[in-house]
Amino acid sequence: MIQKERTYFQPHSAEEAVNIAHKHENESCFIAGGTDVMVNKFQGNNEFSCFIDITGISEMKQISVQDNYLKIGSLVTLDNITKHTQIKNNFPLLIQAANAIASPVIRKTATVGGNLLCENRCVYYNQSTWWREAVGHCLKCDGDICIATGGKKNCFSKFVSDLAVALICMDSNIEVVEHGGSYIAPLENLYSGDGVNPHKLKKSTLIKYIHIPLQQDFRFAFKKLRQRESMEFSSLTTAVTRNKHGKIKIVLGGVDPRPVVVEGTHGNNEQDLIKQAVKKTRIVDNDVFSRQYRKDMISVFLNQSFQEIAV
Ligand SMILES: Cc1cc2nc3c(=O)[nH]c(=O)nc-3n(C[C@H](O)[C@H](O)[C@H](O)COP(=O)(O)OP(=O)(O)OC[C@H]3O[C@@H](n4cnc5c(N)ncnc54)[C@H](O)[C@@H]3O)c2cc1C
Ligand code: SF4
Repeated sequence: MIQKERTYFQPHSAEEAVNIAHKHENESCFIAGGTDVMVNKFQGNNEFSCFIDITGISEMKQISVQDNYLKIGSLVTLDNITKHTQIKNNFPLLIQAANAIASPVIRKTATVGGNLLCENRCVYYNQSTWWREAVGHCLKCDGDICIATGGKKNCFSKFVSDLAVALICMDSNIEVVEHGGSYIAPLENLYSGDGVNPHKLKKSTLIKYIHIPLQQDFRFAFKKLRQRESMEFSSLTTAVTRNKHGKIKIVLGGVDPRPVVVEGTHGNNEQDLIKQAVKKTRIVDNDVFSRQYRKDMISVFLNQSFQEIAV
């Protein structure tokens, strides 16, 4: 068997990483904790010949305050998020979300940036090469139909980043570096809604920091449906916030190829907001729980959440 030649880089700044990625566009992949990239590689779901290990970029491991934002480096691990005093005091929603992810050992390696960009999931996709060959390849792995829907031409793989659900609910932004510049944009805009390519970043664009607005003063509720409490990707994640001005934000994960967002105010009928959220989701039978059960659970979780954040 002829092995493909592989290249491995260890840059020490975001700009250096981006320049290397730009030179190797379409064949390279950033690697942080590796807990998503390597799983997908061993399942034959990615074939990069060039890995750019970004763990040597120390400025991306810091948490600091800048203006009215908490600035979290994208290389901060999920474990460090759960232990950071300022995050504990200001953003307990983020702590709950981080603690709901994977297992304690994985959280020591998995990073915030990697979590925001971890691959969407589907029971027909996250399988070995042999399994997928036997069932037939779907749209997300070079086939021409979606198996979960019996032949549709769109991919509805589930968006599973629990951290993103919490961060979007708190109006967070991302600071990205790309060849020739950098910019800050709402995290919510990162996601495409297309299950095959779930986010809009170029392969050579790096997430450097996540900015969360401070002094928001909100009440929140976070819930997650999964097969095992100990360690499992989301079948449905919900986060709801209500700030002191009465602004309500609902974010759902696990029920669409991107996070589903619904906004309202204190004056809105809560049942109308719940109906809007359910209507916006594109749930298909690609999970261990049935489509109908997950759909029903949206209303259950959101009703419970509204009771919890009632003033
Ligand atoms: C058993 C298991 C259970 C899990 N359960 C959950 C769960 O319940 N909820 C959940 O949300 N997640 C879950 N995960 C996913 C896990 O959270 C992610 O694998 C992890 O956060 C990814 O971080 P990483 O640093 O390992 O990323 P990597 O695997 O290194 O990278 C992931 C992706 O992000 C890109 N990337 C990484 N950092 C950057 C950056 N700074 N800029 C641009 N691109 C970047 C990589 O190129 C790659 O495409 C689970 C994972 C495992 C293995
Ligand atoms: S939703 Fe359909 S196309 Fe997407 S990964 Fe699953 S089976 Fe494949």
